[in-house]
Amino acid sequence: MDAKEYVNKVLADVENRNKDEPEFNNAVKEVLTTLIPVVEKHPEYIKAGLLERIVEPERQFIFRVPWVGDDGQVYVNRGFRVQMNGALGPYKGGNRFHPSVNVDIVKFLGFEQTFKNALTGLPMGGGKGGADFDPKGKSENEIMRFCQSYVTELYKYIGPDVDVPAGDIGVGAREIGYMYGMYRKIKGVSEQGVFTGKGLSYGGSVGRTEATGYGIIYFLNEMIKDKGETLEGKRVIISGSGNVATYAIKKAQSFGAKVITCSDSNGYILDEDGIDINAVIQIKEVERKRIKEYLKIRPNAKYFEGKKVWEVPADIALPCATQGEINIDDAKALVSGGLKYLAEGANMPCSLDAIDYLMKNEVYFGPAKAVNAGGVSCSGLEMTQNSMRLSWTAEEVDEKLKGIMVNIYKTVKETAKNYGNEGNLVVGANIAGFLKVAEAMMAQGVI
Ligand code: NDP
Repeated sequence: MDAKEYVNKVLADVENRNKDEPEFNNAVKEVLTTLIPVVEKHPEYIKAGLLERIVEPERQFIFRVPWVGDDGQVYVNRGFRVQMNGALGPYKGGNRFHPSVNVDIVKFLGFEQTFKNALTGLPMGGGKGGADFDPKGKSENEIMRFCQSYVTELYKYIGPDVDVPAGDIGVGAREIGYMYGMYRKIKGVSEQGVFTGKGLSYGGSVGRTEATGYGIIYFLNEMIKDKGETLEGKRVIISGSGNVATYAIKKAQSFGAKVITCSDSNGYILDEDGIDINAVIQIKEVERKRIKEYLKIRPNAKYFEGKKVWEVPADIALPCATQGEINIDDAKALVSGGLKYLAEGANMPCSLDAIDYLMKNEVYFGPAKAVNAGGVSCSGLEMTQNSMRLSWTAEEVDEKLKGIMVNIYKTVKETAKNYGNEGNLVVGANIAGFLKVAEAMMAQGVI
């Protein structure tokens, strides 16, 4: 069997075995199809069943999460944790609370996370989790009770050297605080390294909240520098208004870019004077309201209900909301609007045909597993600080984050070139991440 036949066989098996998992199948296909030249160089991977093993989670948990609403009613959600690959270190990846969460979503995210974590150069395996719980409209007490119930089961599967969850959509510092609190109560020990994204008063790292968004811009800056340009004065459209979007906007503005949009799942804001980041933080983080409230603070801005930001002409697009938010029609609109760069802040925001179309139309494309690795990198730094029982300063953390992002860019770019695909960062990221995991798996035998 040659490399191409092998990859196609594994892809067919994955599709056959995971029929109801379109997102997972997409993620696997996106990675495996770029690995044919690697398998050609390493035919020993075929006999070792390496790809068959890498697409199968080491283990996965699905559990009941019952909780009591303020109305006295008992509600039941479904909790998940997938431990995808532990070859490089403890499983590491966020928890997502969103009604769309299911095994498919968690597996696709865990698969992506494995290679992303490898790219950071830090010793972290890949995992992911969450629940089909909708935090929107829930009271503070309901959120706390849900987090506590979720952890009364999750605690069995996690630990500082086992599996280290963090935040994701619907899970920020507040939720991590409630989860860590319950974990500590059940275990009766102080194991701060079991979660990352913690508050600063109990083992959190400065800079973790900002890290994914800032990291995106550090990576984007390298892409732009490579083309002999700067961020200064560039028109940037960003989707989302959560953790990732907020700090991507803030850092892009500090580089002199003109960010003109943000959004939530109801619609988007266009502010031609530049998004007022303090207004976004006030509405989304402090008041926890919908983004259309932005108009109350900035009456000259416009709000488009039920629309996506991709219809706005721009130089740079940064999808920072969720998976599948840019389809082929959106990609066409972006290209018509003169887009030059796209860096994926969210996980898998672009469909495969959209990526293909953008790249064929000379858009310099940065894939999520490299672009948004700043969050998990800073989580890795948080784990290190917890193990050492000390805290670095904001400057130290930011300097390390910047170094990691610049290094990821270089590695990804060079790997693409070495494998005959110069300028294709998708191929570069997949191969560079994969090679690290593959080497560790081969060394550790058939497990
Ligand atoms: P948040 O929950 O903080 O924010 C998510 C944002 O996306 C909100 O503005 C939300 O709007 C919007 N959104 C969610 N679903 C949809 C949808 N179906 N259509 C349009 N908008 C939507 O999450 P994060 O900012 O943490 O995460 C955003 C993305 O970045 C995710 O893909 C996540 O996996 C990825 N990521 C996050 C990291 C982190 O450190 N937090 C690290 C690496 C990747 P609404 O309020 O209406 O739901």
